[in-house]
Formats: sequence, C-alpha cells, structure tokens
Amino acid sequence: MGSITLQKVSKVFGEAKVIPSIDLEINDGEFVVFVGPSGCGKSTLLRLIAGLEDVSGGQILIDGKDVTQAAPAERGLAMVFQSYALYPHMSVRNNIAFPLKMAKMEKSAIDKKVTDAARVLNLTDYLERRPSQLSGGQRQRVAIGRAIVREPSAFLFDEPLSNLDAALRGTMRLEISDLHHQLKTTMVYVTHDQVEAMTMADKIVVLNRGNIEQVGSPLELYKSPRNLFVAGFIGSPH
Ligand code: ADP
Ligand code: MG
Repeated sequence: MGSITLQKVSKVFGEAKVIPSIDLEINDGEFVVFVGPSGCGKSTLLRLIAGLEDVSGGQILIDGKDVTQAAPAERGLAMVFQSYALYPHMSVRNNIAFPLKMAKMEKSAIDKKVTDAARVLNLTDYLERRPSQLSGGQRQRVAIGRAIVREPSAFLFDEPLSNLDAALRGTMRLEISDLHHQLKTTMVYVTHDQVEAMTMADKIVVLNRGNIEQVGSPLELYKSPRNLFVAGFIGSPH
C-alpha cells in the first residue's frame, strides 16, 4: 500500500506563498516525478509529504489516512538522500542496518533484511567496505538500501543523482527504474532534469511557482502540453 493524496496543501514561509494550493493523487505503486525549474517548490512539496515541514493549510492522506499532523517516522515513508549522506566510518552493512538498529530490531532480523536489500541492489560483495571504497553509483545504492530495509509504503527521492556525472546518472536512472519494477512500491521522485522525468515516470507533475501546470504520462505531456510552459519544459514540439 502506498497511495498519497494531497488536498489543498499549501505552504507559506514568512511572506512567501511558496505553495499556494495543491491537489494531487498519487496511486499505490506509481512512479511519480515532480519536475520544474529550480525554486519552484519541488523539495518543499516532498518535505511536506515526508512530514519534514508542516503544512500551512490542507490535508495529506496516506492510504486514505490523514497524516497531516503525524511525525515523519509515523508516516511509513522513506526519504532517500544523496549518497554523501552516508556515514563514512561505517561499513556498507552498518550504513544499511542503521535505521533498523535505531528501531532496536533484533540482530538476526536485521541481518536478513540487509542481506535481502544487498541482493536487490547488487551490493552483496561490498557489504564490508566503507563508502570511500565504493564508486558513486554504489554509494547511491547504499543510500537507497538504507531506505529499502524499512519497507516503506513509498520512497521519496529528492534529486538523488544530481551530484553524479552524466554517464553514471544514466546508469542510475535505469537502476532506480529497475528497482521500482522489482519492488512495485510507490516512488515520488523530484528532479529538475526533463530527461529523468520523461524516462522514469509513470506520471509527471509539472510544477511552476508552487502550482501544478499539468499532470500526465510522459507521452500525454509530450503530445498535448497544456501551455507553453509545459511545452518548453518538456521539450515537446508544440
Ligand atoms: P526546488 O526544490 O524546486 O528548487 P524549493 O522547494 O527548495 O524549490 O524552494 C521553493 C521556494 O521556497 C524557494 O523560493 C525557496 O527559497 C523557498 N524556501 C524553501 N525552503 C525555505 C525555508 N525553510 N525558509 C524560507 N524559504 C524557503
Ligand atoms: Mg530542491
């Protein structure tokens, strides 16, 4: 399960109405990409869903349950941070196990979950290494592993590939798409990169100044952009 519903969600920072009012339905198992120019509110919207910021108005439902006031840990979601958020002094195994140790899970259960996550992410041979002994792509997979072991109902990614070089970004795009096919868990993915949006998304949400310009599949947005902003941003010929 992992449907996410936003009802008239707004966010104000001081005088700035960063998100005036957003309604959005994310279905269980969907890969949804929030795309839009820098500063349009993508990270803010993701952080509101995660519970890392409080909404100024509106409701957030997860699987139909109102979580608007719930703490981040109570929402059953996992935020994937960029690979540099790993603990450099810990092995890959302990980096992935960290959230489970914090939750005081039994060691044998932790070992099994770490082993399973490592298999899905092709990290089995790297579990005893330190992050500094891994490639950028492997480090990013460890960051994802730390989210997988919590078995979240949805993964939230905020520009997870932005500090990787272009070639590696291409590989990781495929790996994250493949992971979605394997896990079939809802993924909400923030990027300012149109190529990532067009190649990874089931559903793209185009944001501009805190408003949704259009929601649709990559093909729908390409063929029938609602306005010039969407056409320009998606790079369609209209
Ligand atoms: P994006 O991720 O699309 O680049 P953000 O969600 O980070 O955009 O930011 C949207 C707007 O909200 C920006 O104008 C940014 O300066 C502002 N903003 C974000 N976080 C805060 C904050 N904690 N306090 C004040 N303004 C903020
Ligand atoms: Mg951002």
